[in-house]
Amino acid sequence: MSHPNEVRPYRYSLSEKLYLPLFQGMWITLRHFVKNLVRRKPEYTIEYPEERRQYSHRFRGHHILTTRPDGSLRCVACFLCATNCPAECIHIEAGEHPDVNIEKYPVVYDIDMLRCVFCGYCVDACPEDAIIMSNNYDMAFFNRAQSIVSKEDLQKPYTVDPSVLGYRPSYPEEDAMRARLREGVVDLVEEARRRHEASPEPPKAAAG
Ligand code: SF4
Ligand code: SF4
Repeated sequence: MSHPNEVRPYRYSLSEKLYLPLFQGMWITLRHFVKNLVRRKPEYTIEYPEERRQYSHRFRGHHILTTRPDGSLRCVACFLCATNCPAECIHIEAGEHPDVNIEKYPVVYDIDMLRCVFCGYCVDACPEDAIIMSNNYDMAFFNRAQSIVSKEDLQKPYTVDPSVLGYRPSYPEEDAMRARLREGVVDLVEEARRRHEASPEPPKAAAG
């Protein structure tokens, strides 16, 4: 099989020369426009911000820095999240913690939201469950400086609402659902055993 070794100019087809694909795209747009006009509830449009899409609790949105019961950050400035971050968008400066039981804490903890790719690796890497993600996707900035969120921004009050939690190491609400499913499976096994005892199958005849 031969491979081209020179750059050849793109050859437009006749339909492309007549701009037909453009009209095809406009026809699709017009079709959706008319459909949404005649339907009572538009199918393709969410009236954001009045209406919001319900995302899964594994959605990877705005980060949250979690706190201990006394309100201090759980983060011990180990740099594992920053080291694992593929976008290199976490900036940490560590300081010595006044409590001798805790070695370090983050004096500075910044995430550049415009560089972040919302992969969740920082959550996976953290040994302290100190960084999790939320369901919050409201991120709009007027300039680059605003996109760098500090540790104060990462502990905003919305972060304590369990209904907006996103990607995180454990999902207690799903554990409860799994426990119910397990109970259901046990019931099925018990039911099968009870039926078998009530009418045991006759033994199969030996082959040959
Ligand atoms: S979600 Fe991914 S890209 Fe964003 S800060 Fe965490 S590790 Fe970095
Ligand atoms: S958020 Fe977790 S992984 Fe990142 S520095 Fe703090 S303790 Fe370490």
